[in-house]
Amino acid sequence: MSGPGKLYLVSVGPGFAELIPPMAQRALQESEVIVGYDLYLKWIQPWIEGKEIKSMPLTRERERATKGIECARSGRSAAEVSGGDVGVYAMAALVLEEMREEDAFELKIIPGISAANSCASLLGSPLSHDFATLSLSDLLCPWEWIEHRAQHLAQADMVTALYNVQSRERQNGVYRVLHLMLEHKLPETWCGVVKNAYRDGEEHYVCTLSELLNRKFDMLTTIIIGNRFTRRKREFIYTPRGYHAWEDTTENRARPEVATPPAWIFSGTSDGNALAEELARRGHNIIVSTASEYGRELLAKDFPGLSVQSGRIGVEARRRELRRSGAAAIVDATHPFAVEMSAQLITLSQELGIPYMRYERPGAPRKHPAIPCQRMETAATEAIERGRRVFLATGTKDLATFVKHPRAQECEWFVRVAPDPDSLQRALSLGVPRAHLCAMQGPFSKEFNESLWRSWKIDCVVTKDSGDAGGFAAKAEAASALKIPLIIVQRPQMQYPRVANDFATVASFLERDAARTRFNILRSRPKTNPS
Ligand code: SAH
Repeated sequence: MSGPGKLYLVSVGPGFAELIPPMAQRALQESEVIVGYDLYLKWIQPWIEGKEIKSMPLTRERERATKGIECARSGRSAAEVSGGDVGVYAMAALVLEEMREEDAFELKIIPGISAANSCASLLGSPLSHDFATLSLSDLLCPWEWIEHRAQHLAQADMVTALYNVQSRERQNGVYRVLHLMLEHKLPETWCGVVKNAYRDGEEHYVCTLSELLNRKFDMLTTIIIGNRFTRRKREFIYTPRGYHAWEDTTENRARPEVATPPAWIFSGTSDGNALAEELARRGHNIIVSTASEYGRELLAKDFPGLSVQSGRIGVEARRRELRRSGAAAIVDATHPFAVEMSAQLITLSQELGIPYMRYERPGAPRKHPAIPCQRMETAATEAIERGRRVFLATGTKDLATFVKHPRAQECEWFVRVAPDPDSLQRALSLGVPRAHLCAMQGPFSKEFNESLWRSWKIDCVVTKDSGDAGGFAAKAEAASALKIPLIIVQRPQMQYPRVANDFATVASFLERDAARTRFNILRSRPKTNPS
């Protein structure tokens, strides 16, 4: 048997070669075998050229630990490589767990720059006083522990670096933790987000605790949440070294002047939802109201931290909510036919002095011949004139105009409704036979429409010009393939004070025009008291 082997546990920092210290470089050079994960191995290429490499996926950490130990036991020298610091959520503890008391090889652990440190340096100096790290990964411990610890950290007002923030499978956890933080910390608390520190694709920004709720993250990201004293200067945040009055509310706390009051987006279409998603992605502080529960579910799935509401509320309740939230702007992305709602929003905006903008996709281009009608009533008469088996894609709200028309008996009516109990109930109580009902969630393809209409022997279709380009084209093309008339109810004429047809215009409205209101709101906002 050869002499005792050597096992180095080597920290290679965030990734950037200049941040790998000489001690780590030497350990790599002195090792015959390198055990690691592909990405880390790429960074240390200059020091491991020609060596025996054992690369294993990130998930097989325990196997990697044993591999290094086996090499050292057999008298060879090996290096186990970890990103950041090898002792922070990494290989060192696994190796110590797997190693035996009687193992004779030499073990050397080489420290490195953990994500908390590298990320903090890009943000300024948020970790200058007490801080903690919290991993949000529940692979190795139950989720309840994570929440329990988060609660205590928040209560102690500890600056906290969140590691393993959000994975594809674990989307919600981070927002639950942020909400726990918000139970004890001010929404204006300064925070920073860093992705890929000192690596390709590096991104970082500073924002407030409440703004984090609108953001999406991933596993390459670290979030740093400041304490009550953390401040911002230029693009940096920093936590003063100490000796501040814990209860002092005005000078030493995060300043409310910088938190942004929300813009309120009213969404009634998939396009409205896409707008809300885009604004959230750009980091705007928004609240979204969706017309349907389904719309709310879709948004909440993609942005679990976003404040999304659904359901009908009266004008009184809406006025109260807009006031209470301190909304700085109203973006009206409701369905083009929801004119009552738009009228209400315009009135509220004037009454409350909140800037208003209508967002609407341009009407569907007319590639296919269609019969335009100004009103539902005309569309009903047209349909009765032209068809015997008429398909209605006009929604349940206007169903009675067709099926209770004085000449309704001259046709058979086939109806597509949203798959919710109210819509179904409405259609059934208006006497639409069950066999003539299709309750499904769109979007529908041309093929689907064509096949449904063919099997129902539809000879006329009525739809609305809802501005949903994709959905409209699928109907127009199917109708044209079947050579049946397509009747389109045109959008109601509505005088919107301001209209945008693309996301960028809405974003710049929020950035420039709404900023003025924001400023006024913030000036008139009462000073916050300590919790
Ligand atoms: N041993 C590593 C941590 C491993 S856990 C260290 O000390 O840094 C993996 C988590 O670390 C990631 O999900 C992310 O939250 C954080 N992380 C690691 N490198 C990072 C980098 N370059 N930029 C931002 N976050 C990073």
